[in-house]
Amino acid sequence: MQRVRDNAPVTYVIALPCIDVKDKSCIEECPVDCIYEGDRMLYIQPDECIDCGSCEPVCPVEAIYYEDDVPAQWQDYTAANAQFFDGVGSPGGAAKLGPIGKDAAIVAGVEPKAD
Ligand code: SF4
Ligand code: SF4
Repeated sequence: MQRVRDNAPVTYVIALPCIDVKDKSCIEECPVDCIYEGDRMLYIQPDECIDCGSCEPVCPVEAIYYEDDVPAQWQDYTAANAQFFDGVGSPGGAAKLGPIGKDAAIVAGVEPKAD
């Protein structure tokens, strides 16, 4: 049973550390295939996520957080994960859809990391 608050699903969120990393370890762990690939990072579909937590410990850069635990400096990423799916909706599986060639606005605006 998914937890609900204010009639919205409480979910897991991918934050800034995934940008330009995208190693996709999390995708391997997700039982419902709800982690979608954007241009520079991955995003969790909040309506499809069943809140199982399997993805969080495998991320090598600690980019994944339970919604209530997102660090203050990355609070905007909760909304960014949801906004990414504007116009995409709930496709019901990332594998069949493939990469989505866009990013949430705050992600697209992040400077590339220096090598
Ligand atoms: S495991 Fe972490 S860095 Fe890798 S794709 Fe998933 S969220 Fe991004
Ligand atoms: S919490 Fe579970 S269902 Fe949600 S994205 Fe992570 S692995 Fe997938």
